[in-house]
Amino acid sequence: MSFRERLHADCASCVGLCCVAPAFAKSADFAITKPAGKPCPNLRADSRCGIHSRLRESGFPGCTVFDCFGAGQRITAAFGGRSWRDEPGMLAAFPIMRDLHELLYFLAEAQSMPAAAPLYAQLTAMSDKIDAIASGDVAGVDPAALRAEANPLLLEASSLVRRPAGPDHRGAALFGASFRGASLRRASLRGATLVGADLRQADLREADVIGADFRGADLRGADLTGALYLTQAQLDAARGDARTRLPAALHHPTHWR
Ligand code: SF4
Repeated sequence: MSFRERLHADCASCVGLCCVAPAFAKSADFAITKPAGKPCPNLRADSRCGIHSRLRESGFPGCTVFDCFGAGQRITAAFGGRSWRDEPGMLAAFPIMRDLHELLYFLAEAQSMPAAAPLYAQLTAMSDKIDAIASGDVAGVDPAALRAEANPLLLEASSLVRRPAGPDHRGAALFGASFRGASLRRASLRGATLVGADLRQADLREADVIGADFRGADLRGADLTGALYLTQAQLDAARGDARTRLPAALHHPTHWR
């Protein structure tokens, strides 16, 4: 298995850590409230979800847009396949490992950008450092500090790719904004809130969308070819259709059909 493949969730190799470790607040995303460390009532004894095929219609769309970036199976393997019932340390490790794997995902993506070649050595060193930390006991690890260390590199890689740079909407509050047919090519949408935004037929090629919130955004007919740091979870949270163009590594969510 390649390094990048290890950063994809493999629920069959996990013991349902994402269904136990986080707290849920009853909302449009979760039909119930549950505290951290308590199993969701839909989690079966075999660590599978009892409503997996009908999560959205059952009021759990939040579960369909969560991505652990392979943290769940890594912790499960590190604990020899045992259950969180016997090893509560697995639950404490899960959110830390998830953040570390998300960082590794972004670093791996930066390493795949030809224009970022001058940074490959630094990106590799950063990735190796985080992977080594993730291979040990992650209790007490501060992912925010590592993120602060890695972020300048991710930003620099983005700048090298986005030349000349497009519009700057970094961190912007763009709830329900209308960008239908807009040219956002090579734009910075880092951390932008695009909840419910109309991005139909928008040109988002090579746009930097790291951390952008696409919940309910309309991406029908949009072109996201080469979008930087785009994750499957961002797409899963949005709306789109067969005309929406995506980077090769990502796929059209089933609910877009
Ligand atoms: S609804 Fe299913 S996927 Fe969501 S937390 Fe509960 S068991 Fe897990």
